[in-house]
Amino acid sequence: MKRDETRGTTGMAGRPKRGVPEGLWLRCPQCKATIFRKEAEARCNVCPECDYHFYLPARDRLRHLLDQDSFEEWFTDLRPRDALGFQDRLPYADRLRAEQSKTGMADAAVVGKGYIRGRPVVLGITDFGFMAGSMGSVVGEKLTRAAEEATRRQLPLIFVSGSGGGARMQEGILSLMQMAKVSGALKRYDEAGGLYVSVLTNPTMGGVAASWALQGDVTLAEPGAMIGFAGRRTIRETVRLELPEGFQTSEFLLEHGFVDRIVPRKDLRTEVARIIDYCEH
Ligand SMILES: [Zn+2]
Repeated sequence: MKRDETRGTTGMAGRPKRGVPEGLWLRCPQCKATIFRKEAEARCNVCPECDYHFYLPARDRLRHLLDQDSFEEWFTDLRPRDALGFQDRLPYADRLRAEQSKTGMADAAVVGKGYIRGRPVVLGITDFGFMAGSMGSVVGEKLTRAAEEATRRQLPLIFVSGSGGGARMQEGILSLMQMAKVSGALKRYDEAGGLYVSVLTNPTMGGVAASWALQGDVTLAEPGAMIGFAGRRTIRETVRLELPEGFQTSEFLLEHGFVDRIVPRKDLRTEVARIIDYCEH
């Protein structure tokens, strides 16, 4: 699978657009079928022809994963800041405002408490739709506090990664340090005997894959997700070797021991509930 195809459609300038494109019809990047959007939506954004897993926004994922109306969102007052006065093609502050109005989210993570088939859990989700789900200070802080609350309340912790962006470069070192911060909270959670289930979705890359996303006690992945650290081209240019076909997919990582189980989206709620029961009894 080519990198662009895992990200939805390709824009006019050849730059991949994020999320699922607008319109009544969708073209599936995997089987190339033209599918009725409503039909895919009824299946949690999974292709009815070939089971390709499209992007699913955090809000929809909450609904899909948790028992109805059971989610209590935490730390909603955390807002990103442009501490470095950073500017690339756009000033970071402008970019943040645009992403906020596009997604209705303050930043790329949602955390809180909810129930999965009657079992209380602490849940954190990163959303690819907000700056590619990249981890800046707010994402790192929310996930850290979620892990700390899970420790304090002795609850299972579920993080679902949709972070193609890795660490957020617009926040420089402030984003890189989130990798260590979240990892530290997870270590303390682990020492307190907590169960951490990490769910990898398409895509999970960079500093997110290199920290919390691959530190689960149990690591699940959706089918066909792109999971890795650096992109294929970067690695090839660095190590100057031909890379195996599909080496950054859920299936390849399952075969090589980085992923414990591939779980289709429709089975995720049941599977997580089962793992909680298995580990707690
Ligand atoms: Zn398809």
